[in-house]
Amino acid sequence: MSDFSAQTIDLHQNSFVFDAHCDTLGHAAAPAGYRRDLTQWGQRGHLDLPRMKTGGVNAQIFACFPGVDRLRANPTSGALQRLEALYDLISRAPHQIVLVTIADDLARLTPDGPIGAILGLEGVEALDGQMSLFATFHRLGVRNIGLTWDPRNLAADGVGAGTYYGLTPFGRDLVQACNEKGVMVDVSHLNAAGLEDVLAISSKPIIASHSNARAVADHRRNFTDDQIRAIADNGGVIGVTFERSFLNLDYENASLEDLLNHIDHLVNVAGVEHVGLGSDYDGCTPPPELASGEKYPLITQGLLHRGYAPDVIRKILGENFRRVFLDVLP
Ligand SMILES: [Zn+2]
Repeated sequence: MSDFSAQTIDLHQNSFVFDAHCDTLGHAAAPAGYRRDLTQWGQRGHLDLPRMKTGGVNAQIFACFPGVDRLRANPTSGALQRLEALYDLISRAPHQIVLVTIADDLARLTPDGPIGAILGLEGVEALDGQMSLFATFHRLGVRNIGLTWDPRNLAADGVGAGTYYGLTPFGRDLVQACNEKGVMVDVSHLNAAGLEDVLAISSKPIIASHSNARAVADHRRNFTDDQIRAIADNGGVIGVTFERSFLNLDYENASLEDLLNHIDHLVNVAGVEHVGLGSDYDGCTPPPELASGEKYPLITQGLLHRGYAPDVIRKILGENFRRVFLDVLP
């Protein structure tokens, strides 16, 4: 971390960094020739164990997103292949990464220890509308459920569905089951009506693992100020995400400064307890400064430059997501 000031390095290394979203398992489960071994510092992609370690990551949600083309064709096997890729990684590097399924697993993680991995679904296409498959994925360790990706599914409508419907009966059952079983509900990609329904029925805090503020960049994947306030009122946390087009409508010029502008806005509207990081590494095109996972300390440095107090920076880097997962996990 030689590019960073001593204060940045000290603060970042002594913070608990929690990244609430990546699509890295898609790379680990890809066909031979495209597959990346996540124990090695990669020439391609954004995240792997060495780069996460260098970037100071302590907890990471790994989405089992079946892929855009597989949402409609064999999404269950697509999700299971990604899930298996994480289990395989953990078995090959047990001192570097561990699975988090209960609150104690998360509480035990330390800045110097192995990275805690939380398995997530991004879109519930893999559940095929069956609560029994929710039970199966729960047994397999899934602890974060993004109800939709962009299109409509059997639970709800995503922001790209072009409809205004809220949760289906299956979607409502899922939210209730998540509350009962200690699985986090994730509302990134969900449409406005679905978000309203989730907030009305969830008895637990929710997260938006990777979304930004619409007042800063008017993109459908970002939240209005009213939505930001409603998520904060629920006790939830919004993870700022690195995708250029969500950072700045002039996406070719999106920068780290835009990301910091989104953090500023979310903090102003939601308060310092409700903002975190959700990179979407390996599923996004990040701004050049944040080209891959060893760059997280730049966010710490940028927040210091903007006058944030160290204890507030620690909350944004990960304490907020850590708090809600300690609350929700069994
Ligand atoms: Zn996403």
